[in-house]
Amino acid sequence: MLSLFGTGIGRHIAIGRAVVLGNPARTISRHLLTNDQIDDEISRLRFAVNDAREGLMHLADNLPLDAPPETRAFIDVHLLMLDDPVIATAPINTIREQKKNAEWALKLNADKLITFFEGIEDSYLRSKQNDVIQVVDRILLSLQQAPTEADNRLANDLAGHIVVAADLTPADTVMLRHRHMNGFVTRFGGPISHTAILARSLRVPAVLGLHGTIDYIRNDDLLVIDGANNTVLVAPDETLLAEFQHRRDQAQARTLSLQSLRAEKAQTQDGCIVRLLANVELPEDLDVLHDAGADGIGLYRTEFLFMNAHQQPSESEQYSAYCQVLEHSPGPVAIRTLDLGADKQVDGGRSNSQNTVNPALGLRAIRLCLREPDLFKPQLRAIFRAAITGQATIMIPMLSSLSELDQTLMIIDEVKDELSREGIPFKSDVPIGGMIEVPAAAIAADLFARKLDFLSIGTNDLIQYTLAIDRIDDEVNYLYNPLHPAVLRLIHQIIQAGATAGIPVSMCGEMAGDPDYTRLLLGLGLREFSMECSSLPEIKQRIRESDINAQRATIEEILAASAPSQLDQLIVQLNDGTSD
Ligand code: PEP
Ligand code: MG
Repeated sequence: MLSLFGTGIGRHIAIGRAVVLGNPARTISRHLLTNDQIDDEISRLRFAVNDAREGLMHLADNLPLDAPPETRAFIDVHLLMLDDPVIATAPINTIREQKKNAEWALKLNADKLITFFEGIEDSYLRSKQNDVIQVVDRILLSLQQAPTEADNRLANDLAGHIVVAADLTPADTVMLRHRHMNGFVTRFGGPISHTAILARSLRVPAVLGLHGTIDYIRNDDLLVIDGANNTVLVAPDETLLAEFQHRRDQAQARTLSLQSLRAEKAQTQDGCIVRLLANVELPEDLDVLHDAGADGIGLYRTEFLFMNAHQQPSESEQYSAYCQVLEHSPGPVAIRTLDLGADKQVDGGRSNSQNTVNPALGLRAIRLCLREPDLFKPQLRAIFRAAITGQATIMIPMLSSLSELDQTLMIIDEVKDELSREGIPFKSDVPIGGMIEVPAAAIAADLFARKLDFLSIGTNDLIQYTLAIDRIDDEVNYLYNPLHPAVLRLIHQIIQAGATAGIPVSMCGEMAGDPDYTRLLLGLGLREFSMECSSLPEIKQRIRESDINAQRATIEEILAASAPSQLDQLIVQLNDGTSD
């Protein structure tokens, strides 16, 4: 038996057989051919292109009934690309004229196409380079005679299996969840990446960032994922397996027992009422809102509508999606405007951010929306129209300067004017809030609070930007520390800014769903927590056991503490002290 260590996602246990997904070697062989090798090399390439075509057609013919509707469109685009001259004929000419081997010839021509797409201003068209990359990967796999595991992951049912991959995009994760995988482990990735957030929301146990040790896992190995202990066990013996099965069953029983709290209030021992809200990414999240006992939706990540779509969803498609969420929500819904960019790209693809040096600091979220009104305005129109049907609020992500907020408010006014002129019914007085997730906005939170109806603290990005650590780079994950004094001071400051302005402040970053921080956040004055539904019962339980008044002194000490060890000790003290 082997124990491998990475970063656990969720606190659950998954048991299953490994399905190892291969990636074609990124370093492809390059050599020059002799004259008598040329014809064979051309046949080899033709065979590989055909093989890729057959693989895609097989995939299309065997799509499961519950496959997301856009899956077929993905496959069709890839089939069309196989006939594109850049793929179908140009590499053959390169083999013939430059005597380069098939992999090299294919790569050279594909790179030209990718560079062409990179230069396109429209972000949708630009993202088409991802399709080229995927199609070329498929041909390379065949040239390298590697098995086409990519087919399996789309076509096969993965129930009882744990997916093992170098990395998964958020879109991959959704797709594999539809294939019923029990869990997944990856070579790369950290706990606050959007893939990790999705895993929590979909209740899929995972361990990320195994690095080289992932190579010890073979197809069909029996694996145990222990998210709480950041561990993957490979081929555990019977006794250990029985112990983990027992722990898994106990955890499931505890989850069930916490459901009895569903109708109870999230009220502290000293009578303080807390609002517990849900973070929603996917339509399936709506099914569990009521069971989780959510008071509403504190963060609806609308970009997930775009990420698996093959083209930008129209205003009316967005309108229907927003109406659906509003209809299902037990209370108000904070519809966050598009936060595309960095690790969230359209088309489920490998990001065009790979070509940006610092994607997290680049054209993301509100910056992208302000740059591309054709993307932003239809969304705003759809939200204002849908708002008639429920309690919607609008939440702007990644604000960093007041001028961005002013520009946004101007566009909002324009959109409302347009709707009025067109005689289209909409709700005019939708509350507008902002996410405080950039240190500049946190420090100036009082200024933002004066212009907004509510604030929401996005700790995932706030921590990333405050501590200068890329949230998806597992090499620096060890520095990701919600308890860093700078982070705690900023959170405290934002909550106070909201209180002074008389507007609500919620928190929708992952920190809000971690029971280790519940009491601390209550002590800092937070009264609205938004999190993945799966965390909600546990947080409610923690709130109900807490006494804010009794903890005031410890909170003061925490805010004054400087040494990390002292802080850790104070947090333990805070969490151990129950009021009953
Ligand atoms: C955050 O940054 O904390 C947040 C909730 O937004 P996202 O994770 O989608 O960036
Ligand atoms: Mg964010």
